[in-house]
Amino acid sequence: MHYEYRQGRLSVEGVDLTEIAEACGTPTYVYSAGMIRERYRAYDAALAGMPNQVCYAVKANSNLAVLAVLAQEGAGFDIVSGGELFRVLKAGGHAASVVFSGVGKKPDEIRYAIEHGVHSFNCESYAEIEVLNRVAGEAGKIAHVALRVNPDVNPVTHEYISTGLKENKFGIDISVIEAAYAHAAAQPHLKVTGVSCHIGSQMLDSSPMVEAVERVVALVRKLQASGLPIDHVDLGGGLGVKYREGEQTPSIAAAVQAMRQIVEQTGLKAVVEPGRSIVAEAGVLLTSVLYRKNNGGKEFAIIDAAMNDLIRPSLYKAFHEITPVLESTAPPMEVDLVGPVCESGDWIAKSRTLPTLNSGDLLAIHTAGAYGFGMASNYNSRGRAAEVLVDGDTFRVARQRESWDDLVRGESL
Ligand SMILES: *Cc1c(COP(=O)(O)O)cnc(C)c1O
Repeated sequence: MHYEYRQGRLSVEGVDLTEIAEACGTPTYVYSAGMIRERYRAYDAALAGMPNQVCYAVKANSNLAVLAVLAQEGAGFDIVSGGELFRVLKAGGHAASVVFSGVGKKPDEIRYAIEHGVHSFNCESYAEIEVLNRVAGEAGKIAHVALRVNPDVNPVTHEYISTGLKENKFGIDISVIEAAYAHAAAQPHLKVTGVSCHIGSQMLDSSPMVEAVERVVALVRKLQASGLPIDHVDLGGGLGVKYREGEQTPSIAAAVQAMRQIVEQTGLKAVVEPGRSIVAEAGVLLTSVLYRKNNGGKEFAIIDAAMNDLIRPSLYKAFHEITPVLESTAPPMEVDLVGPVCESGDWIAKSRTLPTLNSGDLLAIHTAGAYGFGMASNYNSRGRAAEVLVDGDTFRVARQRESWDDLVRGESL
């Protein structure tokens, strides 16, 4: 399943994207349910035959309709806030297959997760261990805990999405983690059941992941030898996707296979937390050209999607392929695609060669299903984009475009 031209119109599954733009306007995020299922099933199949749980990382795309597609597939979920758990439960997910990650969980979020019976907490500091123990005690429950180890492996990715190095804020340094485990194991309201790690995102090579898993498994052996009831390892997410034509990424099958071998011999349950690799390629952001403009010899196309809709180019200098929705034979031009927001950093693509653009042309910004809408804001008092889910030959609005009334909801004079 792909986004591809059919009769000259960009389509996905059985739906032509011009139809969506006509019905919903632009900018609009479009997600293919079929592609999301395909990716989830690739993880599921790659781990079949050993104890496992695929926990989709909700922060990549937290739309209820997307979560519901995954919940129906039997996915678990990796959450980083109480709000994400709220979404998972609303979408039909089960708390028992939720892992709660994140470096700054608040006591009320922890309480909410304990009351709903999440599978386990991925705990990141001594201070958090103590709060977790206290809140579990108050609730009369025993919380299951994995400590997030920082294995000091370089994921070779953008510095903002690298998390597994000593200098990052994440996890507990592997050189001191055994003491942290002893501390957690001594808490009366905690049961230490796992080891977790997540070293970064958009990794285009599986060797750092394999190295991290080797370190984690070696740690598990030591912890088990000291009597701790470790029954699962959480390998995190982070597998990269192809943002650029010609970029090489390992397939889900290949990346999981490389890690699986190391875990399988231990008999432990393998938890994985993929986000981007499940939803990124399933999504595009549809946008229209508002104006053309030439400044000092440079061509600009001002489009109606901006950094508030998709911040990845501004934040990470990320590259997204962009194609016209109607296949075009117009002569090529080199152009910067920029949004209406009042910031020079508001660009979506620079020096891009595209068929000559005109006002009203529809464009698709590809690989926008992950960290797109979820990172959107209302900057410049722009309502957030609509979101549409395509499934087979039909599509439906999964989130309405925000209105001006939505913009001021909760505010008072
Ligand atoms: C963000 C995150 C993920 C998902 O990462 P992807 O790169 O989207 O696969 C998984 N686990 C944790 C702890 C995360 O913070």
